[in-house]
Amino acid sequence: MMGAYQAIIVGAGFSGAVMAERLASVLGWKVLVLEQRAHIAGNCFDKKNEQGITVHQYGPHLFHTSKPRVWQYLSAFTAWHPYQHKVLARVGEKLIPLPFNLNSLHLVYPAEQALALERKLLELYGAGNKVSILKLRETAEPELAELADWIYQNIFVNYTMRQWGIKAEDIAPDVLARVPVVLSRDDRYFHDSYQAIPAAGYTALINRLLSHQNINVQLQQNALQRLKLENGKICFDGEIFSGKLIYTGMLDQLFSYQFGELPYRSLQFVFRQLDCPYFQTAATVNYPNAPDFTRITEFKHILAESSDGTTIVTEYPQDYDKNDPEKNIPYYPVFTADNQQRFEKYKTLSAQYPQLIPLGRLAEYKYFNMDDAVANALEVSQLLYEQYGKPI
Ligand code: UDP
Repeated sequence: MMGAYQAIIVGAGFSGAVMAERLASVLGWKVLVLEQRAHIAGNCFDKKNEQGITVHQYGPHLFHTSKPRVWQYLSAFTAWHPYQHKVLARVGEKLIPLPFNLNSLHLVYPAEQALALERKLLELYGAGNKVSILKLRETAEPELAELADWIYQNIFVNYTMRQWGIKAEDIAPDVLARVPVVLSRDDRYFHDSYQAIPAAGYTALINRLLSHQNINVQLQQNALQRLKLENGKICFDGEIFSGKLIYTGMLDQLFSYQFGELPYRSLQFVFRQLDCPYFQTAATVNYPNAPDFTRITEFKHILAESSDGTTIVTEYPQDYDKNDPEKNIPYYPVFTADNQQRFEKYKTLSAQYPQLIPLGRLAEYKYFNMDDAVANALEVSQLLYEQYGKPI
């Protein structure tokens, strides 16, 4: 077998690293990880800057999960810094908690009207529950319909248009449902049972996952120049490869765009170092109605790091363009019915290669959070374990 590797994994982000760790330590496979960047950890990559603040180079990553299995698994590779993410939205002169909750309601409406709306909301949807903005917009109650309209117009319409480059009604409803209206006074952005940041950072965590004697990581590798997929067979470095190929990149690129390009959304991150101790009161402030950016994150809130100055990052969404070095990082698949259909063609094609496993947010064209990526990699590794039980 080629280089004695039982698996080649393309991409050293969460999906690739978890898979590598499982295959190496549970199945005892020899695993080669090919990463195109000069560093591991994919878009979770973080590092301390000159001010001693841990910054997330590819945008803020806040770990949260309600999956005990994922929490337990990762806890073997990292200590945690407990952290509950809070987000404020700037609407006009006001800063209101997001997801929109009962505290937000009382900040937006005069006391009496807010109380009446609160009573109606609780009566219809139940205290402590969550309702997606699209569901709330279906209400037959005129006062609630007006509230739903206010939230939709002020929080969702422009932000979504900017984030995705398409109208709010064209993006899959699940996307908006990630930020529901919350019928409580809980100001946290997430409500999962486990919320924390790897104490030494994501890069250190991924490094631990990959630090197994059976795993060989090669950085700055263009895997597609070394791999050839043809007629159901896989060649690597010019020789037939008979192990598993776990691919966490873009499936359209792997198959030379033969069904056309799959749309992705990219981001431009503008970092600024400021002399003041703090820039804003929450880790993230969203600007749903700003002309060209969506949100600003101040990193020192996340690990409660102290420093004289502060570092912030502003996110400017943009179309992904593989030929433009400013726009060639894919962050999100664009979740529309048409794009899903095109993706299905690539998926069908990939099934003609029994050794190939597309894995993760890009390769599966899914809106995975970090914990979803980990859970998914654990599940797939379990399937391989059931299938092989021992090294192939
Ligand atoms: N969203 C919005 N306004 C906001 C926050 C979120 O319209 O202030 C919508 C937007 O379409 C966004 C989606 O909700 O893409 C999901 O938001 P989330 O914060 O989960 O996005 P992520 O952190 O994954 O970029």
